[in-house]
Amino acid sequence: MKDIIRLLPDPVANQIAAGEVIQRPASAVKELMENALDAGATQIQLIIRDAGKSLIQVTDNGSGMSETDARMCFERHATSKITTAEDLFAIRSMGFRGEALASIAAVAQVELKTRRHEAETGTMIEIEGSSVIRQEPCACQPGTSIIAKNLYFNVPARRNFLKSNASETRHIVEEFQRIALARPDIAFSMHHDGFEVFRLKPGNLKQRITGLFGSNYAERIVPVSEETTILNLSGFVLKPEFSKKTRGEQYFFVNNRFIKNGYLHHAVTDAYENLMPHGAFASYFLFMDLDPSRIDINIHPTKTEVKFEDEKSIYAILRAAVKRSLGKFSITPSLDFDQETSFNIPVRMYNEVPKQPVININPGYNPFRDQDAAPVKPRTIGWEKMYEAALRRDSVEPSPSLLPDIPVAPACRVLGQLNNSLIVAMMNQELILIDQQAAHERIIYERNFDRLTHQPQVSQQDLFPQTLQFTHADFVLMQELQDDIRKLGFDIREFGANTFVLNGIPAGIEKGKEKDLIEGILESYKNFNSSLKNQAKENLLRSVAFNLSVKAGKPLDIREMQQIADDLLACRQPGLSPAGKPTFVTVTVQEIEKKFQQRQ
Ligand code: ADP
Ligand code: MG
Repeated sequence: MKDIIRLLPDPVANQIAAGEVIQRPASAVKELMENALDAGATQIQLIIRDAGKSLIQVTDNGSGMSETDARMCFERHATSKITTAEDLFAIRSMGFRGEALASIAAVAQVELKTRRHEAETGTMIEIEGSSVIRQEPCACQPGTSIIAKNLYFNVPARRNFLKSNASETRHIVEEFQRIALARPDIAFSMHHDGFEVFRLKPGNLKQRITGLFGSNYAERIVPVSEETTILNLSGFVLKPEFSKKTRGEQYFFVNNRFIKNGYLHHAVTDAYENLMPHGAFASYFLFMDLDPSRIDINIHPTKTEVKFEDEKSIYAILRAAVKRSLGKFSITPSLDFDQETSFNIPVRMYNEVPKQPVININPGYNPFRDQDAAPVKPRTIGWEKMYEAALRRDSVEPSPSLLPDIPVAPACRVLGQLNNSLIVAMMNQELILIDQQAAHERIIYERNFDRLTHQPQVSQQDLFPQTLQFTHADFVLMQELQDDIRKLGFDIREFGANTFVLNGIPAGIEKGKEKDLIEGILESYKNFNSSLKNQAKENLLRSVAFNLSVKAGKPLDIREMQQIADDLLACRQPGLSPAGKPTFVTVTVQEIEKKFQQRQ
């Protein structure tokens, strides 16, 4: 038999590597910006079009490259940053694998212009799918400018895999923020589809944080600083009273490289213990400087994971330092969080696979319908199954015959409220306990589901027009959601750079909180997003339901409770909240009698 093993041709090998290194437009942005940093630039400009899908351009005033280097830089494993294996233990540069440009050039149409400061002319190279199309001398500024067009133009499967513009832009902004935070001494700008998204002057870290996240951060953060033999720690943490209901900002940098580390995140969270409401998130911008030989950054192609030699000690130092800062600078940590707006549904429900408590519930149980029908036996199903089933059902448009019969007389009599969160009612000789928030979410969800699918007239109340300013990522998200949001009764229009104007809100919503409401909806949307891939409408409906619902902890009067009970029982799916949580439980007389017997 003939020998069959061959070396892969370079373009193929590069494309394979690209799959790992350049997963999405944001990865190309990261690699190009890091190269600019490594080249010693003091000004870096990012321009993207169409969420980076059609164009990414990074221009820097760094060292520039010679003609030969300009050609070499697109070769795989071509790097100027390390020469020997020992160098791997002393890395201070951002890049070192020599894979990024080769990967980008394998899957995009790339144009490079570069000039060394001392050279009179520069070099221009056009390269597409790893083949050089043109190389010639050119006139250009000292430094380097790289344009990557039509990412994955030659890998359609991969291109189709890219997410919505909102989602890809969010990733790009996230990378930009990580890099800009790491180097407050450098000027950065970012433009998207002609809009200026960021313009950041060189300054200190605090100025950089406010430049990126808003001037109100100036009063909200406190400094952290600690010098030890293992590492030097510096940065800022958000005062607990400003902690976010949703993820917030969590930034660790090791030797100026952004990293993710769940263990160290825990150390910081632990330092906030008892200072934040349950379910809130700490925000932090923390920089650790330590001897590069004590860490290993080589374990992941995109290098956001780092292994530490002394992880336990670092944990202890972090926790103690953050704790001290919070104690020192937060004179009166406020423990009194507004129940109205706090996250009452445990966030973990959306973010991780929950444990599987087994609950006795019949999700389709509608006590009204059961009056004449034979009782439906409760089924025992796992939490996850219930959740999935609810999702499936909700994404299917109900046929008209399934619509509930309008009840003639309310068969459910509300008796009172328990623990400001449960509605106690009586019905058909059973005691029924309704979770007010879960129930209200279900009601709002179904009402809005109909609005999105049948497009009926939605009654609206006019507002004095309000402009809403968004971060760029949120703006792009709003652009994507605006049609659906309008159908739900929000009269909202695009209004220039990163701005929307709000002219009306759905009837029945308290005026004065519109801005918080819209922001809350976006926050929830982003938070739920991870668990609900490709289900934008479903996600929006849930976010709106969550943000408009009466929260647990809110005292209600009998009339309000009766309304919720009646509305819930008129739902198509009264037994579950949109997130799959039971909305009510029943207690039968027999069950109560049994309890009495046990007491005897
Ligand atoms: P790495 O950064 O891991 O070395 P890259 O593929 O990102 O690998 O870049 C290859 C080489 O090209 C770098 O080592 C550097 O010498 C050169 N290079 C890339 N981008 C720039 C830039 N913006 N300015 C100057 N040189 C650059
Ligand atoms: Mg690089």
